[in-house]
Parts: sequence; C-alpha cells; structure tokens
Amino acid sequence: MDSQLPWHQPLWHTLLNAWSQQRLPHSLLLCGTKGMGKAIFARQLAEFLLCEHPRIHNDIPKICGYCKPCLLLKAHTHPDLFRVEPAEEGKQIAIDQIRQLIEFCTLTANYGRHQIIILNPAEAMNQNAANSLLKLLEEPPKSTMLLLISHRPSALLATIRSRCQRFDFSRPDKTVAHDWLIKKIPNPQLAPLLLNLSAYAPLAALNLVEGDELNKRRELFDTLTQLPQGKLDPVKIAEQWNKQQVAQILHWMLIWTMDLIRYSQSRNEQVVINQDYREPLQRLARQVNSRYLFKLLDLQQDAYRLVMGTSNVKTQGLLETIAIAWTEFGR
Ligand SMILES: [Zn+2]
Repeated sequence: MDSQLPWHQPLWHTLLNAWSQQRLPHSLLLCGTKGMGKAIFARQLAEFLLCEHPRIHNDIPKICGYCKPCLLLKAHTHPDLFRVEPAEEGKQIAIDQIRQLIEFCTLTANYGRHQIIILNPAEAMNQNAANSLLKLLEEPPKSTMLLLISHRPSALLATIRSRCQRFDFSRPDKTVAHDWLIKKIPNPQLAPLLLNLSAYAPLAALNLVEGDELNKRRELFDTLTQLPQGKLDPVKIAEQWNKQQVAQILHWMLIWTMDLIRYSQSRNEQVVINQDYREPLQRLARQVNSRYLFKLLDLQQDAYRLVMGTSNVKTQGLLETIAIAWTEFGR
C-alpha cells in the first residue's frame, strides 16, 4: 500500500473507527474536486478490506503485503475487486457496465472477505445506468462494498446520494498541501504557484509538472495575446484547441480572465493567481474595460459548464466564439 495522503487522515479516522466497530456502510460516496486523491483513497480502502491480515497503526490502515489477496491486488488480478469506468475519458458509463457490476454482485467472494466495486466517476453514468445502480443500492448484497467516486455529486440522482454515506474530500490546509508537494517536485519553489493554479488540489498541482501541461499553458497564453493583433485565424486556432483537452484550455482561460478582472478592480498585483504572468496580465488589464472582461468570462464559463456537464457536446463552435471574442480584446 502506498503511503496515505496526509489530508486524508480525518477521513481514515472516521472510516477505521467504523471498521473497528464492524459498522462499515455498504456504499460510500467519495466526493470532492479532481486532484484530491479520491481514487487513491478508494484503492487503499479496497486493499485494506481485502487483505487477510489488516491492522491499524496510529490511525493509519496497514496491510500485510504478502497474503494471497495482497499479491493479487499488486498484480491487478484480484477477482473480488471490480472497477467501473467510462471506456474513454469523458465518455459515459453505459447500462451494460452496470449490468456486469450487478452480475458480479451475485457471485460469492472468492476469498470470503468482501466484494468491492469502485465506480469512477459516478456522474458519468447515463440515466439508465444510474437507475439500474439505484436498484442495487436499495438492496445491497451483504458482503459488497460499493465505492462511488464523484467530482460533481450535485450531478448525481438525489436518490443515489441519499443511499450512500458521503465522504467529503475538502481542500487541505495550505501548509499540509505545500509540505507534501515540495517533496514530490524537482523545483520546490514552484509549489505555491502550482497549488494556486490548481485551487489547492494537491494531486492536480503535481500533475501540472509531471505532464506537459505547463508548456501547453504557455503556448495557449502566447496564442491568446496574439489573437487581438489580427495575425491568427480564430477558426484555425479553435480547431487546434479542439484537438486538445478542451476543459483544461477553458480552465486556463477562465483563471486568466478572472485575474484580469480582479486586477482591473483592485490594481493590487497580489490578487493575481497566475503570478508567473503577473506583468503581462497587468499590461493586458490596462487595455480593456470590465464590461468586455465580464462578457468574456460569461462566454468561457458557459462553455466550461457545457463541457463539464455533458458528453458529446460540440466544442468547435464554442471555441470559435471564444477565439473571436479574444480577437476583440482591447478594441
Ligand atoms: Zn495481506
């Protein structure tokens, strides 16, 4: 088992207490924004429940690491653990997948302990899938533990939410997040910026340096500042954006626009979240009026909501409108 994430400690405390008293609920809803480590928590809980010699040490769950279930989990072949995820990121979880899950619940646990299901993310279930899962939640099989992960619990059926015990993964204390992150990245001085950019979701902050995201962010910023000069074709630019992670592109645009609004209103450079772009943002803020900025913000927020809320949304048109709006910057 990997080491527990420090901001999960209060959740482990509650859960392990329930476990010691044999009062574990059948269904847990693990909620919180992306980057809080909900999937890691679910996997660690599954490991703990399936190990033949689990123990608690200083409020931390421990597994033996050598029993058969532990070895099977390490090899990702434990037959009592069932994962349900969309076939592709951003796609839906279909009813067939929930049928397979229900089928899995009719089997007896191979190792006699628990059968564990990790469904991630729960909001990816379509209507039929959700209704079908609801039936299972109404009469959960005895040794089954259902772990639903949700980045947006408000998007779930209220009846699903009410049948699960909810665990909220709230943002960690800033010092806790900072102390954790500096041990994980090669340039610890980047930690405050990374955490600010990810709204203090520590794993999202770590992802920014582990992937190519910071470079993509720089390219996007360069493009946005060139659009008003009329040298780029907004339709072609939208096509390029559309081939990338659209939600992430909109996220960056939104926090830049919010920085522009905050700085225009306060003229205080400390309010700027993108501290590495403080100077160009200050320059840009002097070129526009706030009515334009709020219009841009609305446009981007609407697009972001659509992209996050529904799969199969046509993003090309949305991105074109936004790219054209950026060409009007400062006019
Ligand atoms: Zn074990």
